[in-house]
Amino acid sequence: MFRFYLQPRGPSMKTLRTLAAFTLIAILPFSAATAQGRGGGRGGRGGDAGAPAFPTDDPIIKHIWALGMDSSQVWNLAQPFLDSIGPRLHGTPGIKSAHDWIVGIYGKWGISAKNEQYGTWMGWKRGISYAYLTKPRLHVLEATALAMSAPTKGEVTGSVAIFPDVADAAAFQRWLPSVRGKFVAISPAQPTCRPNDEWQSTALPETFQKMDEQRTRDLAAFSARLDRAGFPGAGRARNRPLGDALTKAGAAGVLVGNWNRGWGVDVISQSFSETIAVVDLSCEDYGLVYRLADRNQNPELKVRVDAEYQGDVPVYNTIATIPGEKANEYVLLSAHFDSWDAGTGATDNGTGTLTMLEAMRILKTVYPRPKRTIIVGHWSGEEWGLNGSRAWAADHPEVVKGLHAQFNQDNGTGRVINMSGAGLLTSASYIGNWFAHLPSTFMSQVNLSFPGTPATGGTDNASFDCYGAPGFGLGSLGWDYGTYTHHTNRDTFDKIIFDELKGNATLTAMLAYLASEDPVFMPRTKRVLPSGRGNAGGPPGDWQECVKALRAWADNNR
Ligand SMILES: [Zn+2]
Repeated sequence: MFRFYLQPRGPSMKTLRTLAAFTLIAILPFSAATAQGRGGGRGGRGGDAGAPAFPTDDPIIKHIWALGMDSSQVWNLAQPFLDSIGPRLHGTPGIKSAHDWIVGIYGKWGISAKNEQYGTWMGWKRGISYAYLTKPRLHVLEATALAMSAPTKGEVTGSVAIFPDVADAAAFQRWLPSVRGKFVAISPAQPTCRPNDEWQSTALPETFQKMDEQRTRDLAAFSARLDRAGFPGAGRARNRPLGDALTKAGAAGVLVGNWNRGWGVDVISQSFSETIAVVDLSCEDYGLVYRLADRNQNPELKVRVDAEYQGDVPVYNTIATIPGEKANEYVLLSAHFDSWDAGTGATDNGTGTLTMLEAMRILKTVYPRPKRTIIVGHWSGEEWGLNGSRAWAADHPEVVKGLHAQFNQDNGTGRVINMSGAGLLTSASYIGNWFAHLPSTFMSQVNLSFPGTPATGGTDNASFDCYGAPGFGLGSLGWDYGTYTHHTNRDTFDKIIFDELKGNATLTAMLAYLASEDPVFMPRTKRVLPSGRGNAGGPPGDWQECVKALRAWADNNR
């Protein structure tokens, strides 16, 4: 889960460089200060590859660089983590194995780590699933059960019914008994499975426009079908009653087409029903089945979904700690640990997890006795509403109070290119100072904005920003995250850009070190927020309130 938050226009990069240089000059001889700041613009690579300009002679910064960039372990950590342990869906045996694996890794490095239970969730175990078209011809369908889907009753054979175009809810109720034993298709078919960028680069402009307008009309018309049938709204509010109605009427299963507008990519996230099997078909296969049914060519499917509900199971955050001299002040590394499970959650949020894990390895070697205690939080339940981080912040008020800086990363594999001051007025002088100590490579690639605004949702720094604590997000370059990997069946190991991942781990280790060394604790002076930036519709300056964590499946309303 993630969304970008808009920044009001802050000081320009030039201003920030000046600020950084100014801060640096206050600390260092002039000759050292003038060495910094080479390199390209936003997202660029500064200096010579592999040989950055270091603005200071700080041996720890140089040692972090050597360990992170020249003897990186991110590939060796990522491979067993993503290929062997695999996806980490909240409440599954998979995420429990992953928690145990990462605690074991920290143990080998001599870092104390533990799994802290904060609640329970509905246990679920994915089994095998498959779907064939058996009539009018044999075809193996590219099919994936949604996460937490109910199982089918073994292998089920049935025909296909398209959600009907009825006048009203009464007409739908009259139609409903006809679904007994059938698979009900509840998504519109796509007119094309080619991504828009191909249409735009290849088609005549008017051809693309015609297709795009037709598609928009078709989608709206299908949504209106559901409204008229008595299932208005969207998401869970619409789908839950629909799932219940289809279950009660004896449907064999539900077919959806969650195409994400890229080649071969579907979003596979939470099923809307725990009473009926819900299966996603690829864009191509959903369209095939839909057209056959729509044109009365009588498609028949053979479908099997195995899945097991396991009752309430404990859920955890993994917390690892390098104790500091100032025992009551903290630097927090942060990335959610859970994922969706059709891919392996490689970029959401395997890469954030690996960034923090590798940063801890580096810090333990280079900086084993920090000034402030360095904690890493591998949160679970983020995809269900920041559950793990919200619970942990509520359970550890001493850390929220003593939090000097949190660094959270959760938007894919790309190099970090932006960071904001989370709405804290004095954050510029702290962050500016850290960046003045970074090698040119990092200094030139990150666009800083101050004071920025606090995160209000989307990912785990929001769970700390709501307390007015300094929770900073490390914003990454996209690499088509939104289309190809975010919550999709294609979020796998091969999508990781390892050079950028190792840079992010190195940068994070440097920021943690520099934050730990700051002589003065980060003040909590909040900016006045523009209207609508805090609580929705609230007056200017209204800071987002903290939200109570979901600690049990019974509280889940998603
Ligand atoms: Zn995420």
